[in-house]
Amino acid sequence: MNIYEKIVGEINPHLVCGDMAITPSEKILQAIWFNQRIKRGELKTTKNINVRVLHPGFFNLEAGPDFKNAIIQFDNQKPVQGDIEIDLNISDWKGHSHSSNPNYNNVILHIVWDCPDEAENSISVLPLRPFLESPLAILEDTVGIDFQFPPTLEGVCSKFFKRSDKQRMFLEEAALFRLEQKSIQMSARSSSREQVLWEGLFRALGYKNNSWAFQSIGELKPLILGESPAQDERNIEARLFGLSGLLPYDLSRSHPENDGHLKRLWDYWWREREIFSNYILPGSIWRLSGTRPVNHPHRRIALAARWLFKNDLSSRFLTWLKSPGENIEESFLQLITPEEDPFWNWHYTIKSAKTATFQPLIGIDRATDIAINIVLPWLLAVSRENSDTAGEERVKELYLRWKPAQDNALLKLARKRILGAFSTDATPTAATQQGLIQIVKNFCENSDSICTGCKFPDKIEYILCP
Ligand code: SF4
Repeated sequence: MNIYEKIVGEINPHLVCGDMAITPSEKILQAIWFNQRIKRGELKTTKNINVRVLHPGFFNLEAGPDFKNAIIQFDNQKPVQGDIEIDLNISDWKGHSHSSNPNYNNVILHIVWDCPDEAENSISVLPLRPFLESPLAILEDTVGIDFQFPPTLEGVCSKFFKRSDKQRMFLEEAALFRLEQKSIQMSARSSSREQVLWEGLFRALGYKNNSWAFQSIGELKPLILGESPAQDERNIEARLFGLSGLLPYDLSRSHPENDGHLKRLWDYWWREREIFSNYILPGSIWRLSGTRPVNHPHRRIALAARWLFKNDLSSRFLTWLKSPGENIEESFLQLITPEEDPFWNWHYTIKSAKTATFQPLIGIDRATDIAINIVLPWLLAVSRENSDTAGEERVKELYLRWKPAQDNALLKLARKRILGAFSTDATPTAATQQGLIQIVKNFCENSDSICTGCKFPDKIEYILCP
């Protein structure tokens, strides 16, 4: 044993002797699976069926199985695509109610730490313990819990992107295509341009979990503003809360200081509720968990109320396009930031405690999302309809210049799969991010995790690496 080994052994004997008696956490099992630190050529289910992992799947950040879209071959059968669930014990399949949860219907392999041979389950079970590539303690120390995408699992197209100095140019082309597509979709709508813009803005306020609920309210804009003139912003806020089905009936017990605000909303709503009663959404349509407090739908409704009360965003966007200034992200943020509100700049929800610090109703990340996905495509559509070629060019120039949006799991995965890169340096602008998302939409979503049948690499080889 060398000196270093001795020191390590004294601090953590498991690392030296490779003790297998300990039970790992589920997170470590997930990391081992994702990095495929297993004897890949020897895997067998509890029923002695050979398992060949063609792709371990993509780590799932949503509710449901741990990995989605894995590709597994059992014995010599045709490979199957499906999801992977990882638990410590085989009994967790029933214990965690996976068997009755429809999110798990597509699971093709249940991975567990250890279980007796011939253990029974309705789906195939693979114990990991007998097939670890190295002793668990060493794996625990090396795989960590930060998932790394194994280089061998990069997409087929990544080799061309990695070699090319035209990567950015190509992503920008894909981004401009995406911008055009969004703009064409907006132009094709039969609603007025104004209404199309508002519905897009509302949808963006809902993020992915509540986009349909917000869109449903956005569609009611003519009703919300048209029935009777609103007295003030709170009047519009009351209509939006009432229509959303999110206006609480009872006062707050824990924070009675909020009751004045809630009573004021009810003062408006009880008088107007009858007019809107056919359009009230069920409260169950909303997904309120899993969002950051600062992005809670209550705050988004409050923001929408302020936009709607002024009802001048479309003309402000058109004016802004003519002279957006140097710092386009900041000038856009200012454009859509409402005046300070004594309640909503200090509360996450209608009943929550007062926050210790001022909370803006919108930040730069959401503003970027709204600009890139809604406002710039809309401005392109309007410029085109007005035969304003200078406006069209300005929209494209702003689109390509915009600073990157907040990174997310989709972008991380796409960067690694398509560009073979982990670093955000590979997507330095919002447009390069959008280009990447467009490639995922057009190609990855029509193939599988091992790129079967994807024609994209053949098409780009001579463009990126002539
Ligand atoms: S599916 Fe196509 S576009 Fe997606 S990573 Fe594979 S080769 Fe690239």
